[in-house]
Amino acid sequence: MHVILMGAQGSGKGTQAAILEPRLNLVKIATGDLFRAEIFSGSPLGNELKAILGRGDLVPDELTTNVVRGRISALVADREAGNPVAGALFDGYPRTDVQARSLDTILDELGERLTTVIEIVVPRDTLVERLSGRRVCAECGKVFHIVSNPAPAGNVCDNCGGRVIQREDDMPGPIARRLALYDQQTAPLLDYYRNLGLLEQVDGDRPVDAVTSAILTIVERRLTASGTV
Ligand code: AMP
Repeated sequence: MHVILMGAQGSGKGTQAAILEPRLNLVKIATGDLFRAEIFSGSPLGNELKAILGRGDLVPDELTTNVVRGRISALVADREAGNPVAGALFDGYPRTDVQARSLDTILDELGERLTTVIEIVVPRDTLVERLSGRRVCAECGKVFHIVSNPAPAGNVCDNCGGRVIQREDDMPGPIARRLALYDQQTAPLLDYYRNLGLLEQVDGDRPVDAVTSAILTIVERRLTASGTV
């Protein structure tokens, strides 16, 4: 089973991925997280990525796909070695037509198939409000929001004691740039997956639990229909 979570920045993909990963026994492949970890390591590649992410631009397709290919191959090898992981949960990948086709090729080569692509749908003004108020722990990535879920006093993370910060790309300029790139490059993929009969949509403008339940129902239905369960 391989599931793609789609939706604009701020739609809650990361939140849902963190909940669904253990629930569905999937391995999360979140390219944004992988790039941020590389930046945190301070490597030369990390320094290049820092500039790209800071502007809200997209990382080149080839680099992104190589990272993903490595993760999927490791997952499949792991499974063949007896680890009972069900598959991958993609968060933030694919984001372009080239990436979607590369993912098809990678999965084909490994004899794997996508189970479903789930779009989390949220109105644009809500997305902007969520992104501009978002704060994250620089150490563990725990997410806060200045209104709905404020960080503890002094901006110290209550999960790990790390510093809670505003992501550079959650500033107004980069937010606008990221949403524009989503519209231009990523939204067209919805039609691509719709035509393949893989697309499902859930209303993401609801409490987290309700969105999780909706996604779980879809995955179960898809698995039943494909005879996997
Ligand atoms: P995210 O955490 O998914 O919002 O990603 C943060 C940033 O990482 C994006 O704004 C891009 O700069 C970069 N990024 C993440 N995933 C991809 C991808 N699939 N293709 C290109 N760039 C990406």
